Amino acid sequence: MKAIAVIVAAGSGMRAATGTAPKQFARIGGEPVLRRSLRIFLEHPRVDGVIAVIREGDEALYEEASSGLDAALLPPVHGGATRQLSVLAGLRAIEPMNPDAVLIHDAARPFVTPALIAATLDALQAHDGAIAALPVTDTLKRAEAGRIAGTLARDDLWRAQTPQTFRFSKIYAAHRAASEAGRADFTDDAAIAEWHGLDVALVESGSHNMKITTSDDLRYADFLASGGGSAGVPDIRSATGFDVHAFGEGDHVILCGIRIPHERGLTGHSDADACLHALTDALLGTIGAGDIGGHFPPSDPRWEDADSAIFLQHAAALVGDRGGRIANADVTLICERPKIGPHREAMRRRVAELLQLDLERVSVKATTSEGLGFTGRGEGIAALATVTVAFGG
Ligand code: MG
Repeated sequence: MKAIAVIVAAGSGMRAATGTAPKQFARIGGEPVLRRSLRIFLEHPRVDGVIAVIREGDEALYEEASSGLDAALLPPVHGGATRQLSVLAGLRAIEPMNPDAVLIHDAARPFVTPALIAATLDALQAHDGAIAALPVTDTLKRAEAGRIAGTLARDDLWRAQTPQTFRFSKIYAAHRAASEAGRADFTDDAAIAEWHGLDVALVESGSHNMKITTSDDLRYADFLASGGGSAGVPDIRSATGFDVHAFGEGDHVILCGIRIPHERGLTGHSDADACLHALTDALLGTIGAGDIGGHFPPSDPRWEDADSAIFLQHAAALVGDRGGRIANADVTLICERPKIGPHREAMRRRVAELLQLDLERVSVKATTSEGLGFTGRGEGIAALATVTVAFGG
C-alpha cells in the first residue's frame, strides 16, 4: 500500500508564537517542531513519501527546518486560509503520485509514535479511514456566563487527534465535494469524512500525542523533547568552584560580599572575595562557559578593587540566558580566622540577594584545616562552592 503523509504546517500559530516565527518553527529539544514531525514520518518504514503544507512567506523558515532531511521529502506546497483548504492543497499535490493511503497530520503534534502511525494504516483494511483519538476522561461541564449550567455524559466521547489516515481516493473525493458545496468550516478531516458518509474508525492514542497550542505547551514540549519527563533524565546540572586568596596588608576581609573586620586583608586584584569567586566559577561550570579569569581578566584595570558581586551577577545572567534556574548555592570556607559564625547569616542573605534565591537555598559553612597547610598556618583563605541549576521545563 503506497502511503503519503501530508504534514499541515500552514497555521500562523499566534497562540504559542515565540518571537515572530509560528509555533511549528519553534525549537523543542534543539530542533524545529516541524522538522521533528517530518522526521518521524520520513523514518517510518510504511510511509513512502512526505509533503509539508506551509504558509506563503514561510519558505525560508521551511528550508531551514527541513534541510538535510531524507530524499522522500517532497517539495512543499502552499496552504490556504483555513486548515481545510490547506489539506486540500496537499491532497491535490500528491494526486499525481496515485497513493493508496494518505496520512494527514498536524505539524504541531511532534510526539506522534511510529506505532500509532502503523495502527491507523492497519485500520484501513477494514475502514475508509482511521484517526488517532483519546477517550475523554475529565467530567465535562456546560457553562453559562461562567457558571455551571449542566454536566455532560462523557461516555462515548473522544478527542480527535492526528494522524487522520484515509484511503486517498475516498478522502480526496470528500474534500472536493465539501469544497464544491461551499463548505469551509470543517476543523478536521474526520468531520469532512463523516459529512461525506465515510466509515472512519478510532485508534486509541495517548496524551503523549499532544498538540502544541499555547506557549505553556511549547515549554512542556521542549522539556519532553530535551529528554525530560518519564522518557529521560531531567536537565539538572551541578558544578563546583574553588578559589584561594592570600592574606596581606589591611584591616578587613570581604567574604560573600560582607565586610568582616580582621587584622589582615586579602590580596587580589578585585576585592579578593574568594567566596563569590568560587560561586562565580561554579555557575559558569554549569554552562561550560570557562572560568572567572576568562570573563574578567586580572590584567584589566577595570576590575581593580571591583565589587565581586559584578562577577557573580554576570555569571548568573549567562545561566539565565540559557534558560537555567538556580536551585541552590552552597559555599564552604576554609580558614582558621576570622571567625565566620557571627557573619554567616549576613553572608547567606547577601548571596541570596545577589542570586535572587530564597534564603533556604543558600548555605554558607566554614571549617578550619586543623592547623595544617596554608590555611592552617594562616597564610590565606580557601573557598569551595557548589551550585545546582535546572534547565528547561
Ligand atoms: Mg579569586
